[in-house]
Amino acid sequence: MAEVKVAVLGGSGAGKSALAVRFLTRRFIGEYASSAECIYTKHLCLDGRQIHLEIYDPCSQPQQGKLSLTDELHWADGFIIVYDISDRASFAFAKALLYRIRESHVGVCKKMVESSVFLVGNKQDLCHMREVGWDEGQKLAIDNKCQFCELSAAEHYQEVVAMFTKVLRNITSNFKVKEKRRPSGSKSMAKLINNVFGKRRKSV
Ligand code: GDP
Ligand code: MG
Repeated sequence: MAEVKVAVLGGSGAGKSALAVRFLTRRFIGEYASSAECIYTKHLCLDGRQIHLEIYDPCSQPQQGKLSLTDELHWADGFIIVYDISDRASFAFAKALLYRIRESHVGVCKKMVESSVFLVGNKQDLCHMREVGWDEGQKLAIDNKCQFCELSAAEHYQEVVAMFTKVLRNITSNFKVKEKRRPSGSKSMAKLINNVFGKRRKSV
């Protein structure tokens, strides 16, 4: 079974928890606890392959300005960077996160080079209050060589599933490349890192 770790990052209130919960439970509940970081786990089957998925949803309130991301960069196989299309500040924060991730790719860690990043403009249902254009989101994604979509966690369940599925496909196809290059060792190393940076777990 493949272990896949995805970190959902972005400014406070952008909809990180809403997106994760929507994907995991199909539901949009409107209000989400933001005082604690958590890791949701789920087993799923993608293209006939069993996947043990872990989704990291950070605490929203404190450390809003925290950009070191050291733990997340070591832990995650892929990132979903979320902003709110009706909140320009959240777009600026997403941009800073992308730069931080790209910067880390310059380093030596192969896992990072191969990691998958998806930029998501959330709350598309609020387009009458739009502050960030679709083309701005797309340009930022192109500049950072990541994928991009706009959607609404509140109204677009299918789009949310499609976005997560693309992220998982990207990550697992990177795993296949890695498996060929590195027949052993990488998994136990990932486990070790996970133990060191282990976070609170919740099962869904
Ligand atoms: P987080 O701080 O990034 O985890 O943001 P939350 O997931 O807690 O969402 C913040 C607020 O935005 C909540 O009140 C959600 O109900 C709301 N929200 C999240 N996604 C959407 C969306 O797609 N459309 C609208 N209208 N509201 C949303
Ligand atoms: Mg949250």
